[in-house]
Amino acid sequence: MKTIYLSFSTGIARFPADAQSAPDLLRSAETAMFKAKRENPGGHVFSDDTKNDTTRKRYLLEIDLRHAIENDALDVYFQPVVSVADNRIIGAEGLARWHHPEHGPVSPGIFIPIEEEIGIIGPLTDKLLNRAAGLIADLSNRTYTPLKLAFNISAMQLTHDDFADRTLSSLSAAGLSPKHFEIELTESTLMQQMDGARAMLAQFRERGASISIDDFGTGFSSLAYLQEIKAQTLKIDKHFIDDCVDNKSSAQLVQSVIAMGQALNMKLIAEGVETSEKLELVASLSCDYYQGYFFSKAVPIEQFQELVMKQCDIDAEASAK
Ligand code: C2E
Ligand code: CA
Ligand code: CA
Repeated sequence: MKTIYLSFSTGIARFPADAQSAPDLLRSAETAMFKAKRENPGGHVFSDDTKNDTTRKRYLLEIDLRHAIENDALDVYFQPVVSVADNRIIGAEGLARWHHPEHGPVSPGIFIPIEEEIGIIGPLTDKLLNRAAGLIADLSNRTYTPLKLAFNISAMQLTHDDFADRTLSSLSAAGLSPKHFEIELTESTLMQQMDGARAMLAQFRERGASISIDDFGTGFSSLAYLQEIKAQTLKIDKHFIDDCVDNKSSAQLVQSVIAMGQALNMKLIAEGVETSEKLELVASLSCDYYQGYFFSKAVPIEQFQELVMKQCDIDAEASAK
């Protein structure tokens, strides 16, 4: 027999003081309940206490996010990763998207930290990643173009022992081989979870998946871990790319990062390439790949498919000549 312990956190809203309609009343009570869960677990919070709260907006967003997740309303978009040498799409970074029914698109920079805080980033990523893997595998098969999928992983996901195994098995079930998958980790994610991450990253590598260091140059990095985790890819943060056309020292910094990556046998991706000048510059510095609005922003699968198809048409024309 197993004993299950239950506890209740209560949110209280009163009509008509706190809200004037039944849905608003429920929302106010729910907001107060989440505040109780966090700040007074097992106790109660009156909706009044959240009224002038600067975090009220944040709580409301949390409720809407929970509903969006329940209703499967989050989506994944794809930003092409393109070869600098010949402008060919070699894969895509999958990026989470949430279109709020009232506020429109909400930046992942806002909702991902909420998911992390309330501990639902894991199941949500599993779901989105699975969907993305199925779409990319299907597109690769239909266009005879092997495409690689890169996906962002949060620090807390690295704390689950079965993460690598579960992720790679579900990717395979969706038809994507590990060799067409890359996990993106920021420097700060690695620094937070280095101890937990070692064995797991080794599992990813052993099964053929690759590891990419995201936003390189923005966090506190230890060059020792770069060698230790044997990442295959370094993504140079947009911040440096932004500066490098007008600022010689930024360009030199990018050049040094590329030289270091090459010395460690890594591939380099320049992030946030927005203009032809920036592309020319990263090409002159021998960067391998780029992402950015110059080629395409992150788009739904249908538009990503069009970009890949266009490339296939160009190939077919070239071979017909
Ligand atoms: P990131 O991994 O650095 O992703 C690149 C971000 O830069 C994306 O913003 C992309 O839309 C944007 N971007 C790409 N090219 C350009 C450009 O040329 N100019 C400009 N101005 N921006 C460009 P987004 O989609 O808003 O994502 C923000 C961050 O949210 C991501 O940064 C990533 O850290 C996080 N994120 C997104 N989806 C997920 C997810 O599924 N899981 C996790 N853990 N994090 C995610
Ligand atoms: Ca990324
Ligand atoms: Ca990045």
